[in-house]
Amino acid sequence: MSDESQELGITESKSHKPGEWYAEVVQKADLADYAPMGGFIVTKPRGYALWEAIQDSLDGWFKETGVDNVYFPMFIPESFLEREKDIVEGFDPEVAWVTQGGHEELEERLAVRPTSESIIAPFMADWTRSHRDLPMRLNQWCSVVRWEATETKPFFRTKEFMWQEGHTAHASNEGAWEEVWTRLGQYERVYEDVLAIPVLRGKKPEHDKFPGADTTTTVEALMPDGKSVQGATSHNLGQSFAEAFDISFVDEDEEEQTAYTTSWGLSWRALGALIMTHSDDQGLVLPPTVAPTQVVIVPIWQEDTKEEVLEYSEGIADDLEDAGFRVELDDRDERNPGFKFNEHELNGVPLRLEIGPYEVEDEEATLVHRPDNEETVEDRDGIVDAVDEHLEEIYDKLYEAAEETLEDNVREAHSPEEILGTIGKHGGYVKTPWCGDEACEEVIKEKIAAEIVMQPLEDEGGSSGGEVPEPDHDECGVCGDPAAEIAYFAKSY
Ligand SMILES: [Zn+2]
Repeated sequence: MSDESQELGITESKSHKPGEWYAEVVQKADLADYAPMGGFIVTKPRGYALWEAIQDSLDGWFKETGVDNVYFPMFIPESFLEREKDIVEGFDPEVAWVTQGGHEELEERLAVRPTSESIIAPFMADWTRSHRDLPMRLNQWCSVVRWEATETKPFFRTKEFMWQEGHTAHASNEGAWEEVWTRLGQYERVYEDVLAIPVLRGKKPEHDKFPGADTTTTVEALMPDGKSVQGATSHNLGQSFAEAFDISFVDEDEEEQTAYTTSWGLSWRALGALIMTHSDDQGLVLPPTVAPTQVVIVPIWQEDTKEEVLEYSEGIADDLEDAGFRVELDDRDERNPGFKFNEHELNGVPLRLEIGPYEVEDEEATLVHRPDNEETVEDRDGIVDAVDEHLEEIYDKLYEAAEETLEDNVREAHSPEEILGTIGKHGGYVKTPWCGDEACEEVIKEKIAAEIVMQPLEDEGGSSGGEVPEPDHDECGVCGDPAAEIAYFAKSY
């Protein structure tokens, strides 16, 4: 390894210093940079490409299921924000305000949207006249601002973040529930089928639901450092927003009815989870589904073999490109193969093809998997099919490793000492019977900053909210009072 490539490489250890390691991977793999204002980041082309890969999947699924994209202003008049009191209370400490435009002081302050219910709902009210206008399903891809005073962590914690927010109105609560589950299912699918991350589905406890919501459902992903990431949320807002913003309609019997609304969102925190879950001490690891470059071909030549090696490599690159793979032929003269290997490892290219004079002579190619360096030799003739299979294998490897981490890290506990000890020692989720009192969460939170990240649900997915299953033991794992619910405690991002 040359000095130059050592400088390129990751110096922190994922297992010993996950925070520093994560920051280094994000910067060295060219995903993002820190902006001059604390709490903001600059997303670089390679980072944005990952966000676009998520958008491509999700946006297509939204449209297939009746969603239209729209765009609303980033500013919300204070009087609009105040119409739903829970939203005001819930977001007030984090709202950024515009008080001046040019040299003029504004008559009414404008909030920089922390979420857009308060600006979208009044228009939905205008656009909803009869039951024939429902369901109405709108979505916008945008950024929102929440002025939190915490340390910047690219994609996990930033004052401004990219997301999509869906807003829908329905004639019945059943319709709203079906919507909630459709979107939660799509979030689960994007994690499991695109990002290679298994998730747990459930609901947030009452005290931690979205301001104004009846129920907040969530997908949670476990990170290798033992902390949970809230992957996306889908809220049944009941009628609180419809009442506050007068979203009503005339039903089939000519009666005036109040609508039911939902909202649901997935942010670029999904990128944080992606990077954190799969990457290692060599750098970024990406599933082939989202990798901007899926296959890199590195030709290995001496002066006297250069021409034939390059020609052979170009032929393979062309075949793979024609078959629809995202391929790069790294024929740079000024870099040696070792340097190129390290660089593409750092950048998370899932599959490397090594082509030297022996491969040319035997009409073969050497394939190396990024996650574990597994090496295979494949025939030139069947290279397109072979690459396809290897990319799938790589996806499966990543998913299975993450699944094993998740399965190994759900543990049960039945006393505060056991809950604290288990999370303290292993991280992960601790499943325990819970009485439903927020005070019991406080007890755990105060000691080790772990909280109830979700409650599992049975019979969900249809036209109702499902039920939290009854625990095996009937005493709250914290206070010992009767418990009728199950809660999952974990530290979280
Ligand atoms: Zn309790």
